[in-house]
Amino acid sequence: MLDVALYIVATPIGNLSDLSPRAIETLSRVGLIAAEDTRHSQRLLTHFNINTRQISVHDHNERQRVDMILQHLEEGTSVALISDAGTPVISDPGYVLVKGVREAGHRVIPVPGCVAFITALCASGLPATSFAFQGFAPPKGRAREQFFEACADDTKTQIFYESCHRIQASLEVMASVFGGDRPACVARELTKTYETIKHGTLAELIEWVAADANQRKGEFVVIVQGAPAQDTSEIDAKTLSMLSVMIEELPLKQAAGLVAKITGIKKNTLYQAALELKEG
Ligand code: SAM
Repeated sequence: MLDVALYIVATPIGNLSDLSPRAIETLSRVGLIAAEDTRHSQRLLTHFNINTRQISVHDHNERQRVDMILQHLEEGTSVALISDAGTPVISDPGYVLVKGVREAGHRVIPVPGCVAFITALCASGLPATSFAFQGFAPPKGRAREQFFEACADDTKTQIFYESCHRIQASLEVMASVFGGDRPACVARELTKTYETIKHGTLAELIEWVAADANQRKGEFVVIVQGAPAQDTSEIDAKTLSMLSVMIEELPLKQAAGLVAKITGIKKNTLYQAALELKEG
């Protein structure tokens, strides 16, 4: 007997064999599947002989769907949420629904599986102990530049989603903001026939994408190595003592930001120093 809950079910990002036995069982046994695009998901359900009824839940109707799904849960009907590919909620609809269902006191049960950026990261050869998933950059203009600027000094590995329409332009903005010599990886069409995982500096990757139109087709994850760690040994004693007073009163980021404004030293360098002070 399936526990009454909203099940968050991950589906494949290309290769149908990646749908887990637990996902197949859950999708077959719930009373209703809430899918981002019911026509798209029908192909997956037909392939696995799953006959469960579907309704659509997408960015434009998610709020209205919450009440309907709550009613089903209250009547004892379990519901599964799926998106077009990968894990719902991750750069996909579902957040509003999950929040609404939790707040109403119902269980939310994850049925894990593919996430494109984790699939890319584990094969990228770039540091994975600490990373930041940034999702999609704004499509163009100053907003896109600012988006990349906000992560330029972060020492964590940076992960982005990108579409075929913008891959080349995005790589170019990344190179101008992060520097063309920053190591990176473009992971394209993961788990599909034309899967390609290409390493290089951002400058090399731009050349590679520009030289071959096939490499601009499909779906992309771009992973960029984090900024090199800052050398904190140059910070003078007066600045360090100002920083140590501030971190007693303020969160580290805020303290580093204030001292950066006062001294003109890079915020990231001060944040690193604040971390070292905190750890004694
Ligand atoms: N929920 C999905 C997940 O768990 O990864 C992400 C959905 S988001 C709307 C779609 C984006 O994910 C694509 O534009 C691409 O950046 C990335 N993506 C999805 N499938 C992919 C694949 N097979 N190879 C590379 N990137 C993929």
